[in-house]
Amino acid sequence: MERRTRVRFAPSPTGPLHMGGVRTALYNYLFAKQRGGDFIIRIEDTDSNRFVPGAEAYIIEALNWCGIIPDEGVDGNGKVVEEASEKHPHAPYRQSQRRGIYRKYADQLVESGNAYYAFDTAEELNEARAACEAKGETFIYNQTTRMSLRNSLSMPESEWRPLLDSRTDWTVRFKMPENTVVAMDDMIRGHVEINTDTLDDKVLWKRADELPTYHLANIVDDHLMEITEVIRGEEWLPSLPLHYLLYQAFGWQDTMPRFAHLPLLLKPVGNGKLSKRDGDKMGFPVFPLNWLNSEGETYHGYREDGYFPEAFVNLLAMLGWNPGTEQEIFSMKELIEAFSIDHVSKSGAKFNPDKAKWYNKEYLRMKSDEELTDAFMPILASKGINEDYDKVKKIVALIKERATFVADFWDIASYLFVAPAEYAEKDANKFWKEENYTLALKVADFILAFDGEFTKESLEGPLEEYIRSNEWPMGKVMNCLRLALVGASSGLGIADIVTIIGKEEFARRIEAIKAKLC
Ligand code: GLU
Repeated sequence: MERRTRVRFAPSPTGPLHMGGVRTALYNYLFAKQRGGDFIIRIEDTDSNRFVPGAEAYIIEALNWCGIIPDEGVDGNGKVVEEASEKHPHAPYRQSQRRGIYRKYADQLVESGNAYYAFDTAEELNEARAACEAKGETFIYNQTTRMSLRNSLSMPESEWRPLLDSRTDWTVRFKMPENTVVAMDDMIRGHVEINTDTLDDKVLWKRADELPTYHLANIVDDHLMEITEVIRGEEWLPSLPLHYLLYQAFGWQDTMPRFAHLPLLLKPVGNGKLSKRDGDKMGFPVFPLNWLNSEGETYHGYREDGYFPEAFVNLLAMLGWNPGTEQEIFSMKELIEAFSIDHVSKSGAKFNPDKAKWYNKEYLRMKSDEELTDAFMPILASKGINEDYDKVKKIVALIKERATFVADFWDIASYLFVAPAEYAEKDANKFWKEENYTLALKVADFILAFDGEFTKESLEGPLEEYIRSNEWPMGKVMNCLRLALVGASSGLGIADIVTIIGKEEFARRIEAIKAKLC
């Protein structure tokens, strides 16, 4: 029977979600939505030592900003669901709140001979480790060492059974079968085989906190939540044999999910995994949102750095996946249609910060003047400028092609709102020469006396005609005027600038440069 597609994103709240984590969530989401299935969030917080306050809320907010909205696990207010309902039948979705579920599965594995109770104290394990190191070996809890350690396989039952009640520091370990080939299939990597002799007896459950470890909780929950595909980062590939064996040990092979391990995101230059330090060094964000860590350092987020969520989603989608065509711009809807695991590459995806900016620039150009004006107005307000909305919109329309981020509008066009406080020395030396500025001041008089409609369209032609008919050097004269209006010799066309700032302000700026430089 064809099963309904159900995939999950299962983050551990151990810190802010790296952009690679967002990509994992995105691919899961695209996979589910393409098949009309469910995208579930499950919080894997069984390792209390690594718990970071605020991380869970951060993850949910980041996904929400990207438009990666879960069907199950998180409610409309962005809260992880704790009470079961029709929409969220598997609640609670936080593993720490599901603790009562796992013990019986751990016991079941012991009963079926797939696991055992281990009573070694921390000191005993340290001693065993030290003894191995002294011989230049590494200690591994496995088939060769387990019989010399303290567990329910090496001890008589009459001895170990009472320890289950009298001690609170025992664990349940998986009994890795000997010399067995585990044959696995990965949707990206294909067929993989490994011999169990290279694997250890992982801890599955701990009496000390009465919690499962990642492996047990992950398999039990994927089974109970009827997950059909597990799409996760490559760092989990080494755990796959154990996960296969756990499905077999429980007798759940028939409903075992299919697996896809996604390639790593790599540094822009050199080799290795993209790390938060690369971002600091090269000045690009590695996280979706800003994150203030406990030492008071802020990690940069795409959102706060001015990226549009659509651009971020688009650039993430292309890191490791390709559509098989030249198309680079995809809306979420288009991604849902086009995405395919078959086109996810096996090898790591090099992150290119310039390409990330390119994406934002493309999305900025696709935005309406209204949307951009709405985003720019608060930036102006923060500079103490309360300009008329329609005027700002006109300016935005003129400059948007030159910007990568909305915040660039200010750098590109601050002179349309405030007079230049100074004049770039290099440009002044080059253009503000008497033979040029005497002509430029005559052109200024022409502009002030112009009695046609004061718009770029009606002024530009006569203005240029006036300069040309006098055979004055167009470039030099215009650059003198630009120096007066912009404070530098670069910027918009003179007709654009004067019609936006108006005749009065134009006259003021001409007087100001005369007073300073003539
Ligand atoms: N909790 C694991 C993580 O933090 C999930 C791995 C998985 O998806 O199985 O990435």
